[in-house]
Amino acid sequence: MKTVKLTFHGGGRTVTGSNFLLETETQKILIDCGLLQGEAAEKEDTGEKPFPYDPRSIDILFVTHAHLDHVGRIPVLVRDGFHGTIYSTPPTKDIAEVILADGIHVAASHQHNGNDGKKETPLSYDEADVRTAMELWKTLPYHEPLDLKDGMRVMFWDSGHILGSAMIEIAYGEKKMLVTGDLGNSPAPLLHDTEIVPDVNYLVMESVYGDRNHEGVTERKEKFKDVIEDTIAKKGVLVIPAFSIERTQELLFELNEFVEHRIILPIPVFVDSPLAIKVTEIYKHYENYFNANARHIIKSGDDIFQFPNLCFTFGARESIGIKKVPVPKVIIAGSGMSNGGRVVYHERNYLSDPSTTLLLVGFQAVGTPGRALATGEKTISILGERVSVRARVENIRGYSAHKDSDGLFGFVEAMGDSLEKIFVVQGEPKSALFLVQRLRDNLGSNAVSPEDNKMIELEF
Ligand SMILES: [Zn+2]
Repeated sequence: MKTVKLTFHGGGRTVTGSNFLLETETQKILIDCGLLQGEAAEKEDTGEKPFPYDPRSIDILFVTHAHLDHVGRIPVLVRDGFHGTIYSTPPTKDIAEVILADGIHVAASHQHNGNDGKKETPLSYDEADVRTAMELWKTLPYHEPLDLKDGMRVMFWDSGHILGSAMIEIAYGEKKMLVTGDLGNSPAPLLHDTEIVPDVNYLVMESVYGDRNHEGVTERKEKFKDVIEDTIAKKGVLVIPAFSIERTQELLFELNEFVEHRIILPIPVFVDSPLAIKVTEIYKHYENYFNANARHIIKSGDDIFQFPNLCFTFGARESIGIKKVPVPKVIIAGSGMSNGGRVVYHERNYLSDPSTTLLLVGFQAVGTPGRALATGEKTISILGERVSVRARVENIRGYSAHKDSDGLFGFVEAMGDSLEKIFVVQGEPKSALFLVQRLRDNLGSNAVSPEDNKMIELEF
């Protein structure tokens, strides 16, 4: 019998800031090292707060996927003395490098702009920290076992959330633990479905949408098409605040089909985000990670990230030039929660115009401008200006990259009888507790919502 100490140092009862510590007698392992975002970040400036453990004592950091709330503090961990090994899938490493380098830029621009919308956690790392992190970073493809000290064996499984996203299986002693990271909203346009991992005893699972369901897959596509057609009919602007990873590429994939099959009339589409453009380039290198349908379309000779009237605006001057392009037009820009990036300029330009549609396609954290827009606020503060919202605000939750309540429930149900304990994490308390109750009531699961920073001992 072996014992593992498990502590949720972030992401226990918050959606963001994922940071879990596993300690055995011989090694210390971290899973994810993410940034707090939105309201959680305002309450707690973790960017400056020291880690609750000594980063120098950590042997290995496993990274589930390249979203900022899972990788954002890795350079700070390195800055503070971590010199162990980082492991992720190959795409996660490539995307993380771009995201972390971009984090330096975001931190700098926030310092200059002062109060442009809500605050992000301040970052205090530089290029050298990112470089060091990349030197410590090794890759491990899905399904390839990694043997560690004391008979521990780790394997990555496809979670279907974003390109390269992994669930981390840790086999040790007599038991198996699975940490899900974020779980994809399968079936997704580009990625494989979330895999079902056999014989798991301890499950650490996300619960972002633990208490809500999304529209189905066909509804999301239909709704997206309707919103574009409405924009064309109104001669308006469709502004889509989109996350640079996965959401932008999924929207391009759908738009590619609409345009190539003449399902919609021609309309200029702008991807106005240097980060999204860089990430799209990475996606093109990993087509073997896509699902059968996407691979089939690519094999037939179609470049799924290129179609007539699509324009990638990398430079600032090209971005400003979008304003001069006649309506109707579609602008996809980050950040996904409207708390920075170029989308705020388009929101300032177009939200007060009734012919505009603002389309929300992802999770909006409490405290972000995106959340305020999603809940129907009629004036919001953008770049220091009060802007009245006369635009139509639409929300397509079907493009969420996260499983909904039924999806999470089905995932646990499919894992079967081996499950002894379920830790429901990475959700707002309402979401996490709803899912805990649902799992207890309907599956008789031993599910809990663990507190942050409280150590749990598990027998392996
Ligand atoms: Zn994620």
